[in-house]
Amino acid sequence: MSTGFDATRLANTATSALRAYDPGHDLPALRKRFGAQIAELGSNENPLGPSPRALEAMRDALNESFRYPDPRGLALKTALAEHLRADVDQIALGNGSHELLMLLAQCFADAAHSIVYSQFGFAVFPIATAAAGAQHIRVTALAADHANAPYGHDLRAMANAIRSDTRLVYLANPNNPTGTWFDDAPLAAFLAGVPRNVLVVVDEAYHEYVDTPGLSTALNFAGQYPNLLVTRTFSKAYGLAGLRVGYLVAHPSVIAMIERLRESFNVNNVALAGAAAALADHEHLQRSREFNNGEREWLRNELQSRGYRCLPSQTNFLMIDRGCDASALEKHLFERGVIVRPMGGYGLPQTLRISVGSRDENERLLQVLP
Ligand code: PMP
Repeated sequence: MSTGFDATRLANTATSALRAYDPGHDLPALRKRFGAQIAELGSNENPLGPSPRALEAMRDALNESFRYPDPRGLALKTALAEHLRADVDQIALGNGSHELLMLLAQCFADAAHSIVYSQFGFAVFPIATAAAGAQHIRVTALAADHANAPYGHDLRAMANAIRSDTRLVYLANPNNPTGTWFDDAPLAAFLAGVPRNVLVVVDEAYHEYVDTPGLSTALNFAGQYPNLLVTRTFSKAYGLAGLRVGYLVAHPSVIAMIERLRESFNVNNVALAGAAAALADHEHLQRSREFNNGEREWLRNELQSRGYRCLPSQTNFLMIDRGCDASALEKHLFERGVIVRPMGGYGLPQTLRISVGSRDENERLLQVLP
């Protein structure tokens, strides 16, 4: 269209500095191309799917879809409050935790403020910072050969990077795309050194998969640190990525600010019902966790026995490090219907992120791996 009209010049400063989110490969087209032969190992979804109880609740909720959803999401928040031993006014619901991570920067930072995050931290952190027009403090990650957390968060360096204008610190534990994590003890030391007027956001999207003795949840420190915020999601272990439900647990005054900015019907009625039923289905969650963690370690061994170095992971994916550009390998897999996530956009072109799929999908990966 060549009308001479160009709205890009009309956008505000923050939006002008942004690039549109890269959604990766066109999966609907790839499903058509490869049919049942596709192995979708690029988006860290739960291959067991949703809880049958969540499916039933969602079917029932469809009948109510002609009505607006509960703008407070009170039934889900009450269930979460009980689950987390928190109060309802400490919880905000989001259209995925992605939305909440964005809202936090919008609420608490602008051009006069800085936001601290790790070099290979979750991709939304720099996007949220840019969208708020805030200044980026991107802290160099741990070294590639670090024993426990290659490319992981360097908490000491992050604490040192905090300035007087810093409003937010984003941490992901475990982190995507690296799969790495930090234990409770270094988090406690970090929190003790952060001024109270800096909000520390711990993104625990993969929390339900964690099974290492040193790590529980940042929520254990919430009573001690009112400036500590935790986000979680129903997209991973609960198998509801398509529904878009996440939540934030924070001091009531943080929640009150988010409520000012949040679109009142941001979580739809089917999603509210599905998430509440999923939360109550402990068996499905347990099955998902056991399947994933067993399968992940099986896949790790298979990959390593073929000479592929895998980073430690407490998530539902593995990062492999080729030590040289991995784009030819990604293309090789892609041409055979095995979809994994290239990491060039993160500045890690030597790595690929591979989700733990069903046994069939994982075997297909291993079969076509050169
Ligand atoms: N945090 C991390 C670390 C993630 O990997 C993701 C999803 N990839 C999210 C947050 C956002 O998840 P959602 O919006 O689906 O809740």
